[in-house]
Amino acid sequence: MRRSWRLLGLVVLAAVICLAAVTLLRPAVHEAEMAGGTDSTQETKEVQQPKPDTVEGGPQILVLNYHKVSDEFLSLAVAPADFDWQMRYLKEHGYHAITPDELYDAIEGTGTLPDNPVLITFDDGYQDNYDNAYPILKKYGLKGTVFVVTSFLGTRKGYLTWDECREMEKNGMTVASHTVDHKSMTDLTNDQLRAELVESKKKAEAELGHEVKYMAYPTGAYNLHIAQLVREAGYKAAFTIKYGGVSRKSNIYALERVPIFHTEKTNRDFVERIHYTPQFESFGWTKH
Ligand SMILES: [Zn+2]
Repeated sequence: MRRSWRLLGLVVLAAVICLAAVTLLRPAVHEAEMAGGTDSTQETKEVQQPKPDTVEGGPQILVLNYHKVSDEFLSLAVAPADFDWQMRYLKEHGYHAITPDELYDAIEGTGTLPDNPVLITFDDGYQDNYDNAYPILKKYGLKGTVFVVTSFLGTRKGYLTWDECREMEKNGMTVASHTVDHKSMTDLTNDQLRAELVESKKKAEAELGHEVKYMAYPTGAYNLHIAQLVREAGYKAAFTIKYGGVSRKSNIYALERVPIFHTEKTNRDFVERIHYTPQFESFGWTKH
């Protein structure tokens, strides 16, 4: 009898130690994921996803960031077959593609979003966005936003033409600014910054026939001074490559995105990234 009580005591003690260990180790699991570690897939499956509306700052909105959609062997080039797989995944899992206007209105509290909203963005304005990405988006009833480098369009091989931009816009896509020359903005003088922001906006507006309200920072490089100049140039919002989901707490001139790259396991990484973004945010590890 006495021995069985001792045994029970040991079992209880072991259970308490296990629980404490699991609790203490849990943040380390997430940090490993954030650093790109994949060994912890098993553990993370046990962690409950927070409901979007329980995350501080309101629902998290997923903004994906692509560059090229082609078979080139570059980290910036997601293969068309993989892009097709990813868009089908979004469709089959109840995601709804939104426009930057819808995102902006939601952040400002003047509009509502569909369930599982996703803003699908492309930087630089590569020709393959029209040739490869656009038909796949259409096939799944999705829409995207292309941030174009205005001086490259119609002048450089491998980049979109304005005709293609206009055609895509007629079918629900949005074209916005990625500056005139794609120079890293933190290296520019104030005059150069203003020129990059104002001239790209003017050029795109003249070609597209409507106000251009959004821009993305080339290479993601920005600071608060540059963000202020973006505002003064008349843009309503700007996108960085700061990793994370967008919420009503986000800085409207430094909106977070989730970059999607070609990796050794492109589609698995895609799924992990889109599912864990809100979770990273809720733990506050990717905010700054
Ligand atoms: Zn770029």
